Amino acid sequence: MNVLYKSTRGEAQEYTASQAVIQGLANDGGLFVPTTIPKLSCELDELAGKSYQEIAYIVLKEFFTDYTEEELKTCIEKAYDDKFDTKLCAPLVKKNDQYFLELFHGPTIAFKDMALSILPHLLTTALKKNNINEKVVIMTATSGDTGKAALAAFADVENTCIIVFYPHGGVSKIQELQMVTQKGSNTKVVAVKGNFDDCQSAVKNMFHDEKLKEKLLANGYRFSSANSINIGRLFPQVAYYVYSYAKLVEDNAIKAGDAVNFVVPTGNFGNILAAYYAKQMGIPVGKLICASNENKVLYDFFESGSYDRNREFILTSSPSMDILISSNLERLIYHIAGNDANVNSSMMKDLSTKGIYTITEDMKKKLFDFDGEYSPEKEVFEVIKKYYEECGYVMDTHTAVAACGNLKYKEKTNDETVSVVVSTASPYKFTRSVMNAIAPEYEMEDDFEMIKELSNLSKVAIPNAIKQIMDAKILHDTVCKVEEMESSVIDFLSL
Ligand SMILES: *Cc1c(COP(=O)(O)O)cnc(C)c1O
Repeated sequence: MNVLYKSTRGEAQEYTASQAVIQGLANDGGLFVPTTIPKLSCELDELAGKSYQEIAYIVLKEFFTDYTEEELKTCIEKAYDDKFDTKLCAPLVKKNDQYFLELFHGPTIAFKDMALSILPHLLTTALKKNNINEKVVIMTATSGDTGKAALAAFADVENTCIIVFYPHGGVSKIQELQMVTQKGSNTKVVAVKGNFDDCQSAVKNMFHDEKLKEKLLANGYRFSSANSINIGRLFPQVAYYVYSYAKLVEDNAIKAGDAVNFVVPTGNFGNILAAYYAKQMGIPVGKLICASNENKVLYDFFESGSYDRNREFILTSSPSMDILISSNLERLIYHIAGNDANVNSSMMKDLSTKGIYTITEDMKKKLFDFDGEYSPEKEVFEVIKKYYEECGYVMDTHTAVAACGNLKYKEKTNDETVSVVVSTASPYKFTRSVMNAIAPEYEMEDDFEMIKELSNLSKVAIPNAIKQIMDAKILHDTVCKVEEMESSVIDFLSL
């Protein structure tokens, strides 16, 4: 079946998958959604035993219908290769009778790698298919993590180059080292004398600068972004839900057809939305448990039906979930409104003008797939400690928000459905917080010393992603003023 994409806000035009990947966001500011959600073509009991790549193909061929079989398989092969430190790509592990789906075995040891690994290939293939000959320039401002994940994803991908700006002195030592040691002749990392907002607005201005765009075009380049609302990032995430279901069947934890609950540590709502699509495609899912940290805007939404961003922004130990506007929620709103772009648009308008919208009773009923939980910092740290003490398993702070939410959900409901906690980062990515939870006496100045201690305690080898930066050469040392960002782009591209 041919799947087309349209905007959640009502723009009349329909797009092919490859056009939607290139464009990222619809012209009216809406997000692209499939006109119909496809079903898996494979029976549930046939999924068991398949590799990650095979399952990724089974899922992606339903969404990216204008890509040929060969194109998609090539994208998948290039994405899920030995960049991952295990052939499984997304191993399902069982600790203390609880399943964890580990999505942190990619190059930057966090779950964004699952989607960012394939995005550059989906994008460059899309350009070829649409006879666009320019090279893509990915430009992004980062406060730490996304920049590195995008660098690792685009490094040495033909017909692309990537420029990352970060605030000088505004990211952690490890984050900075991860970026400035990035290899690849098509990569450029620049420290900016300013804060993250300065970097971000300068990048936005460059994206919209017509003169600069013309200059790029004249030299065979065009800007693109790698942000998380692109369908080229969203749908690859469906694959690991299907994969984990297959693994549960393989391990006889469930029979094909039995329901499973997924517990997802949520920020921008992309990861859990992928689980929702997996359910719509035919994976038997009981509840999707949306786990929030103290920024509990989503928890309140599931409780009350009102999404209200007018609140204090709290800095927590799970920074990738410190978000007050969950962009991908817009897709869910559109679907539960019965795919009604008018209803969605008016709610998104309320969000941008008043910071709040309320869904109708009918829409609220359609949220039965979801449960919301939130966990205060203290309980998050207790859960890390509990698993470490009970079975020696060390999880990161984001994963712990989900593990904690799962315990709360079980206590509340007595639901005995098999559940999978989605594990979004290696504990080594947040060593200081994790050590604080399991062994606070080891408070040391040096991050690498802490990492060695964590390895001693957890008996888990330090991941390559960390080892590599410990003695890697610094390859990027450009520091510039905010006003010089544009000229650093021009220099890098030799315009
Ligand atoms: C991005 C991120 C999340 C949140 O995922 P969303 O798709 O934005 O909901 C959770 N944990 C980690 C480690 C992340 O990097």
